[in-house]
Amino acid sequence: MASAKVLLIEDGQVDRMVIKGLLSKAVVPFEVETVETLAEALAAISRGSFDVILSDLTLPDSQGLDTFLRVFQSAGDVPVVVLTGSDDLTLAAKAVEEGAEAYLVKGKIDGNRLARALRYAIQRTAAEQAEWQSPMYQLAKQQFLKAAQIVGLDDNLRERLLFPQRTMTVTFPFRRDDYQEVETVFGYRVQHLLTMGPTKGGIRYHEDVNLGEVSALAMWMTWKCALMRLPFGGAKGGVRIDPTILTGHELQRLTRRFTTEILDMIGPDKDIPAPDMGTNERVMAWMMDTYSQQIGYTVPTVVTGKPVVLGGSQGRSEATGRGLVYLIAAAAEHLEMNLKGSTVVVQGFGNVGSNAARFLEELGARVVAVSDVTGGIYNPHGLSVSSLLAYTRENRVLAGYPDGEAISNEEMLELPCDILAPAAMQNQITHDNADRIKCKILAEGANGPTTLEADEILHDRDVFVLPDIVGNAGGVTVSYFEWVQGTQNYTWTLDEINSRLHTILLNAFRRALDRSARQKIDMRTAALIEGIQRVEQAKLARGLFP
Ligand code: GLU
Repeated sequence: MASAKVLLIEDGQVDRMVIKGLLSKAVVPFEVETVETLAEALAAISRGSFDVILSDLTLPDSQGLDTFLRVFQSAGDVPVVVLTGSDDLTLAAKAVEEGAEAYLVKGKIDGNRLARALRYAIQRTAAEQAEWQSPMYQLAKQQFLKAAQIVGLDDNLRERLLFPQRTMTVTFPFRRDDYQEVETVFGYRVQHLLTMGPTKGGIRYHEDVNLGEVSALAMWMTWKCALMRLPFGGAKGGVRIDPTILTGHELQRLTRRFTTEILDMIGPDKDIPAPDMGTNERVMAWMMDTYSQQIGYTVPTVVTGKPVVLGGSQGRSEATGRGLVYLIAAAAEHLEMNLKGSTVVVQGFGNVGSNAARFLEELGARVVAVSDVTGGIYNPHGLSVSSLLAYTRENRVLAGYPDGEAISNEEMLELPCDILAPAAMQNQITHDNADRIKCKILAEGANGPTTLEADEILHDRDVFVLPDIVGNAGGVTVSYFEWVQGTQNYTWTLDEINSRLHTILLNAFRRALDRSARQKIDMRTAALIEGIQRVEQAKLARGLFP
């Protein structure tokens, strides 16, 4: 979890020291800037970007509710938590009435209470303000509207597809290991389109998850499944939490409770979750077990991306990375570029990034840079992917890897290379850096890594883009195989899986490429149109009820 920035407005020296001391000891540290007067506070607010403001109400240049109102009005979207003395409680209540997120009584604050009050204030504000206002949802809508306009999609269908068909927001408690704290967290499951069959899509655990983000991801799943001609509509789920701060037991309790909360929405013929950012096959095993316990018998097909021993498919865990590399090879062939000896930069060293790097190395490409949340490692002579994997197995993160130079994630994206594979977060290639991207192929392993403005710049600069709904579709395609095998109680070999995966991905790639050449449009829009048109046909064929 990233550290939060706190503006502490407090003129008492002792209180200041106590609070700063407590905040520095929090599990997830806070960055604190301190000011002593209202004038300084207002100046700091207009200058800085704070996540939360913690304010005393009695200052040398302002007293009482007036202090709160002045701070609150200039704070904009930033939540304000009030600090009061125990004799000032009516004042605190008034401040809360006027919009303060919470108040803390001096002398009764311990580190835990303080950190939680600030974290909750930040989270609540984010939840209230940003459920739909997510940049990712904005991007998904813009991409869809652009494609819909080019293809002349019927107005009624355009409106219908712009929002998800079903969304569910849950809040639920889960207990930390120390038996002292109960956390309340937000979870979501969104089904974008129910027309094509059951809905399908991963579950994401990340501290920034909100309804808009999950809805964007669900919409992309719709286009991805339709483009691959899988009999699914799109879905996605998520929990707003940083899974890296949880123990295994905590992760398990969180997963089981979340599964129970969304139990009515999921099912092998209804909606089938899978792993996504922050979740893995262990999480899927717990989801499957929880669902099965409630239903009364084992239902392996309620999730995909399970461990093989529970009915998971051969090849599912590496399918997204493998699929991305099949497509990179096809793109290289199209561009008459030799993969052997080509240079590769991979952003993200999770499941998708590390497998993509591994398979590219096997094909003779030179991986010159990789990165994770701790930053990038660069070695122009080439990195050894197996040694990077051994290092991250041991140390969890890439930081400190000896055989290369440390660089930032931003610098890494701008390195000269033949293939750049963003396989981490959304919103990485934007109008700020698109004109400095130096690759020939941009192979999107992540969902939504490139903004619409950046797309146009890349198109003008002749960068070949393998858009996310093509690039990372290997995951859901092998998920489909897993579901089919489970439904038939039959298993396929790894060779069968990989060869079917190759056929499906390459077929979709060629259709998108042909359309892009025929209509003189970028690959992303071409791929989206392929998906959108299939959905359009299905919707028109089914007709309208009632
Ligand atoms: N989370 C993956 C994706 O974004 C896989 C979804 C699935 O397998 O259902 O495509």
